[in-house]
Amino acid sequence: MRIHVTYAGGTIGMVDSPDGLRPGADLASWLDAQLDGIELSGQVSLSQLSPLVDSSETTPIHWQIIIDDVRSHVDSADAFIVLHGTDTMAYSSAALSYALADFEKPIVFTGSQYPLGVVGTDASANVTGALRAAGSPQVRGVTLFFGHTLLAGNRATKTSSWAFAGFDSPSTLPVARTGAPWQWYHGIEAGEGWAKPAPYTRHDVAVIDIVPGLSAERLRAMLTPAPEAVIIRAYGVGNIPASDPGIVDVLAGLRAQDIPLIVASQCYQSEVVLGHYEAGSALARLGAISAHDMTLEALYSKTIFLLSQEIRGDQFAQWMNRSIAGEVNLPTIA
Ligand code: ASP
Repeated sequence: MRIHVTYAGGTIGMVDSPDGLRPGADLASWLDAQLDGIELSGQVSLSQLSPLVDSSETTPIHWQIIIDDVRSHVDSADAFIVLHGTDTMAYSSAALSYALADFEKPIVFTGSQYPLGVVGTDASANVTGALRAAGSPQVRGVTLFFGHTLLAGNRATKTSSWAFAGFDSPSTLPVARTGAPWQWYHGIEAGEGWAKPAPYTRHDVAVIDIVPGLSAERLRAMLTPAPEAVIIRAYGVGNIPASDPGIVDVLAGLRAQDIPLIVASQCYQSEVVLGHYEAGSALARLGAISAHDMTLEALYSKTIFLLSQEIRGDQFAQWMNRSIAGEVNLPTIA
């Protein structure tokens, strides 16, 4: 089993500085020490982004750099690990799941809450767990291993800024949990795939939380100039203060320009059903698109992916209702 590791950055390889944590640990030597004496010794290659990034600085251009690194090692590795900061790891793992939906080899993301040089760090457990996951015959597609749990990469969300169990997948079971032996719960869903995707490019996508008392003026200001797509994080199953005609007018103005309006939920666990309440039916009438049970990370990365493929209009809406790589569970009831 040959494994290629792409080291993108993150706390795992950081050291203290007067201005706070920054990249600087000798990750290559540390990784060699982790592998010393185990069956993967000599089977793991490493490349790293230059410069390494705190993942809060990540853009879709970094997603593409990681994708290009993975693709360039396709012949020399059987499985892949991406070492990544935790802040936007779930965005990147979702992004790779779309662009590499037709890639035959498993890719496992991991990182850590503590740097590798700190006593009691979670770096070792996470990296060795990711190595084990990458070599497991049950694993396919893009996954995320963290805190003893393996999750589908496009179903995961960061749930804690400090806990070692820092990620969860609110709408699906985990794929596996560690133990002796590991417990396997849920096969990784496949989607329709995507042949020959164009590279990721940056796009202007607005993500807006609805809050009690939000005024139409504020909403209009947040959406000016008009973005390429809008994700509204509404309440519950997709409700907004629809009795405020100003709010509905602002959203209708976007739709008149054929700007996709996607409705997600602020609930940690959700299934968006537009029109279930009167408060959501205005959105349905405007032709808003349901995010169904997608996480914000999966939805945002999918939006950028579709825009990068130059998918617009009806086709954009249709793809939000289709699964590219298992990112969405579509309702079975009409
Ligand atoms: N800010 C860091 C990052 O996302 C946090 C981490 O890695 O845990 O790169």
